Amino acid sequence: MEKIIILTLITILGALLGSFTTMLIHRLHFDETGILTGRSQCPNCKKVLRFWNLIPIFSWLFQRGKCQYCHKNIAVYYPLTEITFATMFLVFGIHFYSVAELFPLLGIVFITLIFFFYDVRFMEVDDRIAYPAILFIMIYAFFREDPWVTFWIGGIAGFAFYAFQYFVSRGKWVGAGDMRLGAFMGLCLGWKVFFLALFFAYILGLLFAIPLLLMQRVNKKTALPMGAFLMPSLLYFLYSGETLLNWYLTLGNLINFT
Ligand SMILES: [Zn+2]
Repeated sequence: MEKIIILTLITILGALLGSFTTMLIHRLHFDETGILTGRSQCPNCKKVLRFWNLIPIFSWLFQRGKCQYCHKNIAVYYPLTEITFATMFLVFGIHFYSVAELFPLLGIVFITLIFFFYDVRFMEVDDRIAYPAILFIMIYAFFREDPWVTFWIGGIAGFAFYAFQYFVSRGKWVGAGDMRLGAFMGLCLGWKVFFLALFFAYILGLLFAIPLLLMQRVNKKTALPMGAFLMPSLLYFLYSGETLLNWYLTLGNLINFT
């Protein structure tokens, strides 16, 4: 019973942070003031929204996807962001329930989803998110089970992987933001898991791009936001962790790290 209450609270927290994230991304991207203090407005009619307009998921449903005041459609992106946050918080809450690691992990999930939605929406990685995030993970590495160097080497590897491509191609293959995402991802996972997750992200990207290429919706020069693939992969490996890594390694009869 107690567990159900706590998991419900974690899910609600996720939905609220999802709602906060849509606002945060909007304000950071358009450089609006009052990032944390400003009242939420309808982006169309600028009417200040009341609390019943801001209930994650439900307000959108009850208002049938429209602004209550000007009746302009509210993008499905908003409830989808909130649902994704709520679901991820619940999934991690169930899996890591008894572990003291849950809250730092939810912190990582929170940041990862901000990166994801920011990159999907505007194809940008915001330094005002990236630098504090990287700092937080660098410090968190000291409190984890594995030695901190595992994570720091992961961060350096992730940074180097994209920095190399960035400088060789003079910014044509990858964006500068991808170096930050790579560093963040490596720091979260540690270098062993990081390389597997990187590989997995590119498989995801291919699975996504091939149908679009076949349908000629995109061409080879179309840029896809890397964060759209790196961040889901990060979440997946954060969730399954080294269990999966060891499974792969045992399967391939390679070195077993444990
Ligand atoms: Zn409106």
